[in-house]
Amino acid sequence: MKITQYIGEITGAFGATIKHAFAKRDTVLYPEVKPDIPGRWRGRLILTHTPDGEERCVACYLCSSVCPAQAITIQGTERAEDERRYPKSFEIDFSRCIFCGMCEEACPTRAIQSTNDFEMGSYSREKLVYKKDDLLVKGTGKYPDFNYFEHAGVPIKGKAVGEGDNERAPVDVYSILP
Ligand code: SF4
Ligand code: SF4
Repeated sequence: MKITQYIGEITGAFGATIKHAFAKRDTVLYPEVKPDIPGRWRGRLILTHTPDGEERCVACYLCSSVCPAQAITIQGTERAEDERRYPKSFEIDFSRCIFCGMCEEACPTRAIQSTNDFEMGSYSREKLVYKKDDLLVKGTGKYPDFNYFEHAGVPIKGKAVGEGDNERAPVDVYSILP
């Protein structure tokens, strides 16, 4: 390489450095300045309630089944008064969670939802295991009107449950237990 080429390369590099030194920064001085988080960010997970204040989660285990990181542990049970299922315990290990959002996609009741909270750092792995009390929020989250039990297993105008197209008659689950 000729000396003139060296000088050209060095001058170009200096020029790029000086240009970027005075350019507008894309980074922000976090945590003093909070970054703008998109609405569809997949951050800390929460469990939500229906509009009438019931727990949305019916302990169906779909979220824990699809979770690629095996971060969700659920123990389901039934309410004595109406046999509605709910999670007796629900844990998410955020030290394993990769925030893929598959649990939220799989959830038929829209109980589990991603939020835009990302400030979950901890020096203790134990503190990253969130129990049901840590996950359950009072409100409905992103779906203020959705109530699974008003959409599933209910009759529609002119048709009883099981009479719809491609619909089977409901099964009495207790009749098929061993
Ligand atoms: S976001 Fe992904 S990794 Fe995290 S708990 Fe849900 S399914 Fe598992
Ligand atoms: S959060 Fe949703 S998918 Fe997970 S167990 Fe509850 S109802 Fe089922």
